[in-house]
Amino acid sequence: MNSRVFHRHCHSTLPVAVRGEGAYLFDQNGKAYLDASGGAAVSCLGHNHAGVRAALHHQIDSLAYAHSAFFTTESAELLADKLAEHAPGDLNHTYFLSGGSEAVEAALKLARQYFLEIGQPQRTRFISRRQSYHGNTLGALAVGGNIWRRAPFDPLLIPAEHIAPCYSYRDKRAHETPFEYGQRVANELEERLLVVGPDTVIAFIAEPVVGATAGALTAEEGYFSRIREICNQYGVLLILDEVMCGMGRTGTLFAHEQEGIHADIVTIAKGLGAGYQPIGAMLASDRVYDAVSNGSGFFQHGHTYMGHATATAGALAVLNAIQNENLLPNVVHKGNLLMDRLHQRFAENVHVGDIRGRGLFIGLELVKDKETKQPFDPVTQLHARIKNRAMELGLICYPMSGTIDGTHGHHILLAPPFIISTEQVDELVDKLGNSI
Ligand code: PMP
Repeated sequence: MNSRVFHRHCHSTLPVAVRGEGAYLFDQNGKAYLDASGGAAVSCLGHNHAGVRAALHHQIDSLAYAHSAFFTTESAELLADKLAEHAPGDLNHTYFLSGGSEAVEAALKLARQYFLEIGQPQRTRFISRRQSYHGNTLGALAVGGNIWRRAPFDPLLIPAEHIAPCYSYRDKRAHETPFEYGQRVANELEERLLVVGPDTVIAFIAEPVVGATAGALTAEEGYFSRIREICNQYGVLLILDEVMCGMGRTGTLFAHEQEGIHADIVTIAKGLGAGYQPIGAMLASDRVYDAVSNGSGFFQHGHTYMGHATATAGALAVLNAIQNENLLPNVVHKGNLLMDRLHQRFAENVHVGDIRGRGLFIGLELVKDKETKQPFDPVTQLHARIKNRAMELGLICYPMSGTIDGTHGHHILLAPPFIISTEQVDELVDKLGNSI
């Protein structure tokens, strides 16, 4: 197709998506694709959900949009209530945005403003993890630790430090218990704080389960409790980025519920819109919100489409569907099934080095050889070749280059809709096996 749309891959020829139904997308020739990545962990309900469609129609028929400087809307208020009710801790204040990067930008600015409000203007730095991704806008890119994405735009806007990822299947020592390993990795935060000066640091930002850059990487048990302890000790805020892993993807509405900790600020997006409308949100704890509210009383941030009536009405319907259709137990059940089937299918495959994840958020790391764990050379473009082959076979899986340890290597991310059936799990594993 001769296209005037400015595609990221300027020379790619893409099929035209014309219809979606349940776990499938259909192109202009009627070919079906099993959406095993939900786009990029977006379409948690699958496509063409009747309840969300009805809620969007209903909202648009009465009011599509009213600027948030002049009005609030019922749908925004109801959605904020519901999120606060279900979020761990006291994340009682929801700030609506249009996507993940916007949510992260707002989180970074709110964290900075928090310290200005409480009289600590010397805190200007963020710490995140190597290979992390928190969005493509310049602030979010600056805190992220993905070398490939950052390099062309150096120097970036915000001073940021990067410590080790939460887990590496190359790094764990034989004698360590998982708890000890988690604590050892987390301790790098304290070491780095002491090097740069703890009172120069605003926040540590991390994904509870790492998505795009590392293929569904979960932390060991001792990791996040130690991270929270260190943040408390040095007065550093903890921002958890649940843009990809949140909204039930790992089996609980918020992924960090499973870590037993509370955050100061949390970002969500993808699954909140579920593909029906662009929306993101930043949830702030009482402490952070109160500092602004009782201080200047004005958060120095804002976007034209924040709190959009139609977007929040659609997202409210998404949240209702996750609860009313009791989808979270299916995430756990089908996630376990998918994990078992993947292990069976790839047990003998020397190139599938690691299969990991939680719920319906699963990554496969590809290596030259399971024993040596050596990644493939980037020039092989293995991830793109697997994605292309899968598309030919009618399967959508999310390809990524870059291992958790460095700049090279490849993995595949799976994030199918929560409604996936047992037969579709089998179809997924079969087509993925044939693609790899
Ligand atoms: N944070 C995380 C963890 C993400 O995975 C992403 C998107 N992949 C973003 C932020 C940015 O979200 P968006 O693409 O909606 O701007």
